[in-house]
Amino acid sequence: MTVLTNARVVTPRGVLEPGWVSVAGGRIADIGTGAAPAGAHDDLGGAWLLPGFIDLHVHGGGGHDATASPEDLAAAVAYHRSHGTTRTLVSLVTAPIETLIRELGWIADLVEAGPSAAGHVVGAHLEGPFLSHTRCGAQNPAHLLPPDRASFAALVEAARGTLRSVTIAPELPGALDLIADIRDAGAVAAIGHTDAGYAQVRAAIDAGVTLATHLFNAMPPMNHRAPGAAGAALAAGIRCEVINDGVHVHPAVTALVAQVPGRLVLITDAIEAAGAGDGDYVLGAQQVQVSDAQARLTTTGSLAGSTLTMDDAVRRAVLDSGLSVEAASAGASGNPARVLGTGDVCGSITPGHDADLVVLDADLRVTRVMAAGGWCDALRPT
Ligand SMILES: [Zn+2]
Repeated sequence: MTVLTNARVVTPRGVLEPGWVSVAGGRIADIGTGAAPAGAHDDLGGAWLLPGFIDLHVHGGGGHDATASPEDLAAAVAYHRSHGTTRTLVSLVTAPIETLIRELGWIADLVEAGPSAAGHVVGAHLEGPFLSHTRCGAQNPAHLLPPDRASFAALVEAARGTLRSVTIAPELPGALDLIADIRDAGAVAAIGHTDAGYAQVRAAIDAGVTLATHLFNAMPPMNHRAPGAAGAALAAGIRCEVINDGVHVHPAVTALVAQVPGRLVLITDAIEAAGAGDGDYVLGAQQVQVSDAQARLTTTGSLAGSTLTMDDAVRRAVLDSGLSVEAASAGASGNPARVLGTGDVCGSITPGHDADLVVLDADLRVTRVMAAGGWCDALRPT
């Protein structure tokens, strides 16, 4: 048994300081303060210890686009794990159905392979093709489709049980029927890339939508007389993804979303440029230029994902948005785990949970990552 000692342990019931966490068989065996139990002690020197981050929305990183090849997919996941992400939903941008079918197959292969040296892929997120032309953002408008149950059934089959979330614009004809199909497939239905008004989104929530994809981005701004999709998501209390990079939303907006416990879901929406520097990239067959770490389509100037990592999202939530480390941690781990319905096995430092852990220094920078009880090597690959 390994015992991590002398840490500021972030748990659902507060911070244990100084705290300890014992790990055995890939799981958290016990937690506490004061005298640590016998075992191989690993002194963390007063560092923060958080549950591993769970990113529900990521397209690439470390110079690897997850849709380029199975090898790039694995390398992108490994890059983000070096920044503390121990469970990943891989997001697929809008593309022809046959392309999505191939990419879903790659993701299913990784999920079926289980946690590995590359990381832990828990499933796929389809960001399209059933989205609004008006609010397509960086989604390729050439491949957007109205909700089509036959096409969706083909995607579900290709995913072999690993499709975990689908973003849909609820104002499109047939959207409510498709939301039912998404739920029947065991996936989370999310509203996003939508021009819908308040009432349309409330109807979608009544039909089973439980998540908003990157709240405020790719939807109309909230107006006090026309609260729109963002207002509907906030008023209904569904969970809300936020890209907390200081560009997609103001830090105060992240703080507002977090004021309702359980609501904030920090995501990266990262593209391959995360960790790879400014320059020219491609997303969904569209040209992207990254300048000052901001990714934008060269054609329209729309933001095209981000260059964010989950540790940076957490650090910004604390330093810029004023959240407690516990609240930021909930946004990065506990709340996304509940979106996936896996809050009983991951997402918090709780006895019995998988031992997925992140060590952060006093500046909230990742120093070590543990996945399923083992320390990950090759932290911060270049
Ligand atoms: Zn995205």
